[in-house]
Amino acid sequence: MNILVCVKQVPDTAIAIKLDAEQKSIDRSEITYVVNPFDEYAIEAGLQLKEKYGGEVTLVTMGPDRADETLRTGLAMGADKGVHISDPALEGSDTLVTAKVLAAAIKGLPYDIVLCGKVATDDNTGQVGPALAELLGIPHISGATTLEVDDAAKKATATREVEGGFMRMEVPIPAVITAEKDLNAPRYPSLPGIMKAKTKPVDKKDVASLGMDPSSVGLAGSKIQPMGMSLPPEREAGRIIEGEAEEAAKELARLLRAEVKIL
Ligand SMILES: Cc1cc2nc3c(=O)[nH]c(=O)nc-3n(C[C@H](O)[C@H](O)[C@H](O)COP(=O)(O)OP(=O)(O)OC[C@H]3O[C@@H](n4cnc5c(N)ncnc54)[C@H](O)[C@@H]3O)c2cc1C
Repeated sequence: MNILVCVKQVPDTAIAIKLDAEQKSIDRSEITYVVNPFDEYAIEAGLQLKEKYGGEVTLVTMGPDRADETLRTGLAMGADKGVHISDPALEGSDTLVTAKVLAAAIKGLPYDIVLCGKVATDDNTGQVGPALAELLGIPHISGATTLEVDDAAKKATATREVEGGFMRMEVPIPAVITAEKDLNAPRYPSLPGIMKAKTKPVDKKDVASLGMDPSSVGLAGSKIQPMGMSLPPEREAGRIIEGEAEEAAKELARLLRAEVKIL
């Protein structure tokens, strides 16, 4: 089975984000990056399918040179190879352009299933997987919390969480499935895995090699033009109520009534 997994490099959610001088993007100078956490579930799902059916897991990423680290992490988990789409012309690409670029790369590869994360923790749109499925002309199931693939019957069955319950869905494969966090428990890269990942093949692609016009990607090719970004207002310092428990509880109730006005 040929399994493709789309992986995105994102800022580590544990770090404090600062904005750049123009307040239109984040200041990336002091950021540490990780594999988008939802993509780790997608990689794990891909590895489990390979263990069941054989074949190969290929990771696909679009991002600058540093996104190679993301591929190496997935390769260390056990994926076989990577495709890295990197080109200065991609700067400022919005969600649809991102999906078009990924689709152009994927169209040149054999695939039975395409796995994505449900959402990327930085831009947070959740649009790339469904857009990719549309562009590839195949069905999709978003936010899968379970996934079974029947390679012989060429179908995938997944569960999605919906308001107050669960929905089971079946699609013919090839299909795009986006992974919710309950899908599995992603494995950690092993030390031998980390060593092997250094020499696993990564195919470098740019916009021209995907047969795309540079003016159709990046900020120029994007319908979404950023107006500005802002950070949430700084939280006010907390207040510690001193004293015995009974008196402190009374003071807390008074503050909640008189100042916070929630009682
Ligand atoms: C203003 C702006 C500027 C941008 N500038 C750049 C830039 O300079 N360079 C650049 O490379 N991108 C750039 N992007 C693209 C951006 O980082 C996202 O990749 C894109 O907008 C997808 O949106 P999302 O992260 O919300 O994806 P979501 O739809 O939330 O992601 C869902 C899943 O789709 C897959 N996916 C998403 N993005 C990628 C990816 N890049 N590679 C592989 N799989 C992916 C992953 O499986 C992910 O879990 C820019 C976007 C905007 C809006």
